[in-house]
Amino acid sequence: MKQTIRFGRISGVEAGANWSLLVLILLVAYGLATAVLPQLAPGHSSGVYWTAGVVCGLLIAGSLLLHELAHSVVAVRAGIPVQRITLWMLGGATVLDGEPASPRTAFWVAASGPLTSLGLGVGSGAIAVLLNLAGTPRLFVMALWWLGIMNVFLAVFNLLPGLPLDGGRILRAVLWWRSGDRDRAALSAGRAGQVIGYLLAGLGFAEWLSGQLTGLWLLMIGFVIVMSVGTESRMTRLRIGLGRTTVAEVMSRPAVTAYVAMPVERFVTEVAPRTPETVFPVVDLDGAPTGTVSLRRLAQVPAARRGDVRIADVQRPLADVPLARPEELLADLVTRMPPATDELALVTEHGRLVGVVRGQDIDRVVQLNAFRPLGQAA
Ligand SMILES: [Zn+2]
Repeated sequence: MKQTIRFGRISGVEAGANWSLLVLILLVAYGLATAVLPQLAPGHSSGVYWTAGVVCGLLIAGSLLLHELAHSVVAVRAGIPVQRITLWMLGGATVLDGEPASPRTAFWVAASGPLTSLGLGVGSGAIAVLLNLAGTPRLFVMALWWLGIMNVFLAVFNLLPGLPLDGGRILRAVLWWRSGDRDRAALSAGRAGQVIGYLLAGLGFAEWLSGQLTGLWLLMIGFVIVMSVGTESRMTRLRIGLGRTTVAEVMSRPAVTAYVAMPVERFVTEVAPRTPETVFPVVDLDGAPTGTVSLRRLAQVPAARRGDVRIADVQRPLADVPLARPEELLADLVTRMPPATDELALVTEHGRLVGVVRGQDIDRVVQLNAFRPLGQAA
């Protein structure tokens, strides 16, 4: 999900939203202003209902943000860096830069979100009751009550026991704790997620057929669940196939490196033709890597400019290149570098380039490991 609006860093985590979050806020405002609030708290003008509706829509977005922040804070405390939080039409997503090291950590990272939603729900409900007793106008009380119900719903929905929902991550943590095998636990929780996704989509479809437009929402959520769990399970199967193979076992010394200050013309005529490679590591004078460059990328430099443009001007900068350490598991590297691409991961030690891993190297390990007896993958 692409971030189109940045909120900035909140407790150290890059948070933002996709434009589709506006759709969610407007739908909430529309539902509240035209149906829910006029029924629960009659006697106001449509302007008042719409204002209350938009405020509640924003508060729902805020609730989603707090839910995701809870995941992030617990993850960061457990030593797992958080890439970003993105809110969108169907909720929020927290992208972690690594995997929990133990079932216990995995459990708390997953459970923190629904617990926060539950707390927000019960909290707003309780405040609504108190305000009601204090004689606050019914519109305020009902808006707050509705916000409470929505947060409780959010907690319960997210606790459905299938990936990629929080409940599925909790299920994975419990299965992992019982069996000691994280990847197999992930596959089981993934299958549960697939069933839940199809059930939700079916339910949404039936609702839509019976004339309720909200069914489309559920249909969409069901499909998103099925699709994302498919991607996650493919990744898990890949990790199982890679076993305990380390980066050092498959990396190779690059036959050719591109020198960062070399003109493109000289590189493509004198250096690149000497090897079968199409993607090259780029290094500076000290042998420190500065990025990678591919023939495809070099071909985009107009012929007339190849003498002036240097490798540094067209390289893929280090920040965008997958980096690895020799002792690292290949199974961890693939979460950063999709296999079967013409990408190149740079292996570094003490800031110097010591090797490269290509997409096809990863493919090769998976295929070779398939010949080993089960449970003995290298
Ligand atoms: Zn969550």
